[in-house]
Amino acid sequence: MKRISLITMMTILMAIVLVGCGLQDVHKETPKETAPVVTMVKPKGIPVLMYHKIGEDVDNDAVIREDLFRAQMKFLKDNGYHPLTMEQLYAYVTKGEAVPEKPVVLTFDDGYADTYSIVYPLMKEYGFPATVFVNIDDMGTRLTWEEVKEMYNNGITIANHGYSHIEMGQLSQAEQVDNIRKGQEALERELGIKSPWFCYPYGDRNEFTEAAIKEAGVKMAMAMKPQGWAHEGDDPYHVLRVWVGNAVDLEHFEERISTEQFRDL
Ligand SMILES: [Zn+2]
Repeated sequence: MKRISLITMMTILMAIVLVGCGLQDVHKETPKETAPVVTMVKPKGIPVLMYHKIGEDVDNDAVIREDLFRAQMKFLKDNGYHPLTMEQLYAYVTKGEAVPEKPVVLTFDDGYADTYSIVYPLMKEYGFPATVFVNIDDMGTRLTWEEVKEMYNNGITIANHGYSHIEMGQLSQAEQVDNIRKGQEALERELGIKSPWFCYPYGDRNEFTEAAIKEAGVKMAMAMKPQGWAHEGDDPYHVLRVWVGNAVDLEHFEERISTEQFRDL
């Protein structure tokens, strides 16, 4: 009896030791959580994608269907594209700083309600930085300040698109200064930021506009036309973008983010 007990005990002990070793080995072999290595590059150019409204209004060039927009963002994720922040774009344009490989920039103009309900959750899901250009005049009818603050607090860049959405070239110098300054002041009051980024409403500007945004503390501004990619050494006050709408199916989308010589639509 004593002998059996001893053998049994020895067996149990061995089992414990073996299991213990096994567990230790398994633990040792478990790879540590590490961030994926991102290759940094100095690209010839960067596509800055220009979106407006996500919705079902198929005949409007400023609108893109939700399913197509989602497919485009999934394409970026699945194919290793790296959306950049405005700061990264600025450092590239003005100083030629390296950026993650396969860079793109995601911009959303006009602050539509769907920017909060559709774009924002998707950006969070994919971990994509994005920039939203808002008009203060439209606050409350499209986005609310509450929504804008939530997006800002969760990493979305909020920037000035003018106090009201009006062609700068139609305004006097004083009116332009006033429109831009009021936009900056509202963003500072509500979000505590001095927005260094601007987007010309309708892409329109004249000889006074650049001076007015510089005076307001803007370092870089987005254009609408002509379309094109952004490059190192470009005028930071007229950064070209790439239109994306319903005509940009996945084939055209891939073309627009992989070559600067993309087809006109
Ligand atoms: Zn606009």
